[in-house]
Amino acid sequence: MFQTDRARNYRQFGEEHTQLRKTVRDWCEKSLKPNAHEWEEARLFPREVFKQAADLGLLGIRMPEELGGLGLDWWYTVAYAEEMVHSTLAGLTMALLVQSDMATPVIHEIGDSYHHQNYLKPAIAGQAIAALGITEPDAGSDVAGIRTTARRDGDDYVINGSKTYITNGTRADFITLAARTGGTGHDGISLLMFPTDTKGFRVTRKLEKMGNHCSDTAEIAFEDCRIPAKNLLGNEGEGFYYVMQNFGGERLVGALTAIAGAQRMLDETIEWCQTRHAFGKNLMGFQTVRHQIVQLETELEAGRQLCYRTVQLVIDGDNAWREIAMCKLYCGEVATKVVDRCVQLYGGMGYMDECTVSRVFRDMRLITIGGGTSEIMREILTKLCL
Ligand SMILES: Cc1cc2nc3c(=O)[nH]c(=O)nc-3n(C[C@H](O)[C@H](O)[C@H](O)COP(=O)(O)OP(=O)(O)OC[C@H]3O[C@@H](n4cnc5c(N)ncnc54)[C@H](O)[C@@H]3O)c2cc1C
Repeated sequence: MFQTDRARNYRQFGEEHTQLRKTVRDWCEKSLKPNAHEWEEARLFPREVFKQAADLGLLGIRMPEELGGLGLDWWYTVAYAEEMVHSTLAGLTMALLVQSDMATPVIHEIGDSYHHQNYLKPAIAGQAIAALGITEPDAGSDVAGIRTTARRDGDDYVINGSKTYITNGTRADFITLAARTGGTGHDGISLLMFPTDTKGFRVTRKLEKMGNHCSDTAEIAFEDCRIPAKNLLGNEGEGFYYVMQNFGGERLVGALTAIAGAQRMLDETIEWCQTRHAFGKNLMGFQTVRHQIVQLETELEAGRQLCYRTVQLVIDGDNAWREIAMCKLYCGEVATKVVDRCVQLYGGMGYMDECTVSRVFRDMRLITIGGGTSEIMREILTKLCL
């Protein structure tokens, strides 16, 4: 049972959500999935996919209509994120979600009309590719440890430093960049809109990864890069808090795609178990297999419900920090476990490159690391719950 059918069980989804689900699913199945092998091998999907996603409205679902968005709520983001699994391309899904839900919501929330017109609007239209630049070679989990500097010089900021593991980093037109404008630790970090055609900017390395092959991930460097001071987002020195705020949406959408991706894999594995024979019966004939599958179904359902509950809190404007950290932690761990068990149920076939489950297994390994590790989620929860 795929997402579109499963969503009928939840009252929050009506006819319009079903329509969006169908649009995304059709696009995935007709235009993306058939190219999966080629784009994974090429280690990049074509740039025009951003434009296709924009034309379907997917890059600005919650953004205002005057900026080219659809002006809808989080339930439509859920529908989009869940249905993207039909592309079978986790790397492509991640790249699009960086554009729509990780690098740009903060521009909408704290940017002014200059930022909206010059960065957000082209991103929603798929004319500009966005990246989020936070992680550095010496600072990942510890965001307060970043060293890239943005020194004020007259009407400009001069940027020096480097970032790593940046999704969309080899071809981004702009980066929502965290840099140090003064002070140490949490204080003194600011967010800036950084155009990548700025003199002194370089992609120093395209990184090879374990999975998510069709998305590009880069190490980038800034050498005396001069950008206008008006590219500062919000207030100087408050960047750390904006980054933490922004992580909320990123982590929630990550948890949703993890559950949906693992569910799709489990659905396929059930079909496999119904046809694969051993000892005179199909695998479903073994009680141990059936019990394993319903256990995994239960854990996925629990993860989904936690996400849906959190989405409702976000829509209602309630404090959802605790639930968001729980979503990222629980769904990440469950999804990783589910696809691991799926590989096992496929047997030797599960280890073959030709079998989707082996790719999904490699891709899914990222979920407990990217956007905040499971350990950091436990740290956050320790502070929020104890
Ligand atoms: C494919 C990919 C794409 C990415 N895309 C982006 C992007 O677009 N933009 C961006 O800015 N970043 C991006 N990242 C970076 C990602 O968010 C970081 O890798 C992640 O936050 C972890 O940071 P780190 O790699 O520096 O690990 P580290 O912080 O070095 O952690 C190493 C290990 O130590 C553990 N650890 C650290 N601190 C603690 C603690 N206090 N208690 C217990 N354990 C701890 C961690 O959990 C982890 O297991 C991406 C990463 C990957 C792999």
